[in-house]
Amino acid sequence: MKCALVRPDGTVVHAQRHPTGAERGSEAVVATILDVAEGLADRARATGYSPVAVGIAVPGVVDTARGVAVWSANVGFRDVPLRELAVARLGLPTALGHDVRVGGLAEARLGAGRDAGHVLFVAIGTGIAGAHVTDGSAAAGAHGAAGEIGHILVRPDGPTCGCGRRGCLEAVASAASIARRYAELTAPADGADPVDAAAVAARAATGDAVAERVWREAVEALADGLATGQALYDVRTIVLGGGLARAGDQLIGPLRAALRERLTFHREPLLVPAALGDEAGCLGAALLALDTVPEDKGHG
Ligand SMILES: [Zn+2]
Repeated sequence: MKCALVRPDGTVVHAQRHPTGAERGSEAVVATILDVAEGLADRARATGYSPVAVGIAVPGVVDTARGVAVWSANVGFRDVPLRELAVARLGLPTALGHDVRVGGLAEARLGAGRDAGHVLFVAIGTGIAGAHVTDGSAAAGAHGAAGEIGHILVRPDGPTCGCGRRGCLEAVASAASIARRYAELTAPADGADPVDAAAVAARAATGDAVAERVWREAVEALADGLATGQALYDVRTIVLGGGLARAGDQLIGPLRAALRERLTFHREPLLVPAALGDEAGCLGAALLALDTVPEDKGHG
């Protein structure tokens, strides 16, 4: 858990990290979230600040309107009324958001998509998720599941995705899928260290033909997915985050070229790496919280 005291201009006054400890079960995770939030509010008061709102961002399916963590595979949330619980504990207005959507919000307002107005944030890690941010707010969709760009169908006969269907973008181009594909093609000896996506990128850069192929296939699939994203959203800037974006120019360069090839009448978006690293979600949760506070009170 990345946690922080954030001023209305996005400046971080104090930051902390805590293990999620998902193996302890959902109730224990919720208790830790509330303890940490209360501790941060106390710390703010003790250092001369006056906390005005709480922002919490969680993965999975999130009902932001009701403030409920509906479902998450990795933390085990099932209809947890997190906003209500935080309001009861801290007595402050609270906003509940979705981790990737608030990450996109932060990149669009404070990070690599700053001043772009229309931003598509795509986080490529174990999976692929996205957020479409328009004028500083990320659409959640009718059911809290907007932006699932990882499940755009790009290879109908491709590998089976975690969602159960074949050929989703995530099944071809996530960091986990790149590592899996490379292992399939190289048949490493039993007990050999698995090669992760960063290592596949490094090997591709030094002329490993299999790594080059796997990397190229991932880039092509990403370009297909982003072309669909651009057809739908017509954004000014696409911000790439998550672990895979750390490959930098090795990803962005060929991806930009492959995306350009696929666009016809659509305008080409700027394609840039994320600027806020793994703190984007934390900052975005703060922005979401500040959005709940009237202007005249939000500047303490
Ligand atoms: Zn899928």
